[in-house]
Amino acid sequence: MSFKDLQLNRPILRAIAEAGYDNPTLVQEKTIPFVLDRKDVIVSAQTGTGKTAAFALPILQLLFDKQIASKKGKKIKAVVVSPTRELAIQIENNFKTYSTYAELTSTVIYGGAAIEPQIATLKKGVDILIATPGRLLDLHKQDVINLDYVETLVLDEADLMLDMGFIDDVKKIERLCPKEKQTLLFSATIPYKVEQLANTILNEPKRIEV
Ligand code: AMP
Repeated sequence: MSFKDLQLNRPILRAIAEAGYDNPTLVQEKTIPFVLDRKDVIVSAQTGTGKTAAFALPILQLLFDKQIASKKGKKIKAVVVSPTRELAIQIENNFKTYSTYAELTSTVIYGGAAIEPQIATLKKGVDILIATPGRLLDLHKQDVINLDYVETLVLDEADLMLDMGFIDDVKKIERLCPKEKQTLLFSATIPYKVEQLANTILNEPKRIEV
């Protein structure tokens, strides 16, 4: 299977070709069609399998189509919640690479760093937000972040997020987003507590294992 078979548009295909990706990885092949179909998914995949592109590429594709259709002011339409700053930065770098030709903007926020520059960037408006849970809730409380327009929520490394004690934060973030949204849950392993979380927040999810 090729990326073209996955119905990705030319700006995205061009960016991933330049990144040196020849063909989709297994998790990308299995996940991308469901995300494009706006389904909820629960994906068990380790880091290194290409799982970031498995959610980033179809999210960009969905937003790209809508952007051409509407061209409204920038509102956060996709949120990726990540347990650690390092992972969040890595995810945002991937979004930047894949959106080189797509005119969609992304930014990353995380704790343990100055909040002012993050506020300044958010105030300019952004399509895709990558965040660690605590800083996201903090900036939401300060009214800098509006999640009312979120269409896709991604919980990455869900098992790690729960191990680190972020369960209540994650649930809070989910409730701050509209009820009608798509939720994508990625986890290296699916222990009982991840299953429980999935049961409470996912809507008839497709299960994908690699
Ligand atoms: P991840 O599992 O998302 O951390 O990705 C692991 C690495 O694989 C990253 O360096 C990606 O840039 C790279 N990668 C992701 N998808 C592909 C692909 N289809 N072909 C080649 N490399 C890829």
